[in-house]
Amino acid sequence: MARYTDANCKLCRRERTKLFLKGTRCYTDKCPISGKRNYPPGQHGGSKRARITDYAVQLREKQKIRKTYGLLEKVFRGYFAEAARRKGVTGDNLVALLESRFDNTLYRLGLAPSRKSARQVITHKHLTINGRVVNIPSYILKPGDVIKVRENSKKMELFHESMKRMKDNMLPAWLSLDKANMEGKFLKIPERTDVPFIGNEQLVVELYSK
Ligand code: SF4
Repeated sequence: MARYTDANCKLCRRERTKLFLKGTRCYTDKCPISGKRNYPPGQHGGSKRARITDYAVQLREKQKIRKTYGLLEKVFRGYFAEAARRKGVTGDNLVALLESRFDNTLYRLGLAPSRKSARQVITHKHLTINGRVVNIPSYILKPGDVIKVRENSKKMELFHESMKRMKDNMLPAWLSLDKANMEGKFLKIPERTDVPFIGNEQLVVELYSK
């Protein structure tokens, strides 16, 4: 499976915004975006750019959202096609689909410090959905689905540390969490207004609709 292997922080620097790709480090002053390196990577990263076109703005917004969820272009396009096919507002559908992914849900539940580490624990079979082991990070959850850390995996430090950091006010409206049992529930399809700001998905719709 193709995947991005370069430094995560470069992705944030390219977009000049925090994409929170490295877990706890993103909240410290080691984050280059909060420090001196808040400019795009590469030899000409610090140089001034020429005129910014509408296309460039749309492209950067799409890249920002795509990288936030750690997806390759082809996969992201697939989500867009599915969002456009569904009833309702395409941008809202797109966000709902991305937020319903298993890896993202684990991250939102606080059971993993980043989407990347969520993908790792999922592929290593540390979790179940409705009592069955699921090792597919892109699995789309449905209302009522219950996510659990497997009994033998509950002693893992990653889960303990993650649960310690997780505060009630960090839990989004479409999820519930039983911290003591390391168990979460996907209550409903996320509404756009409930999802923390991840970018302007309308610009993605404009970009792909050209
Ligand atoms: Fe790196 Fe996280 Fe800062 Fe992004 S937000 S630059 S991934 S430390």
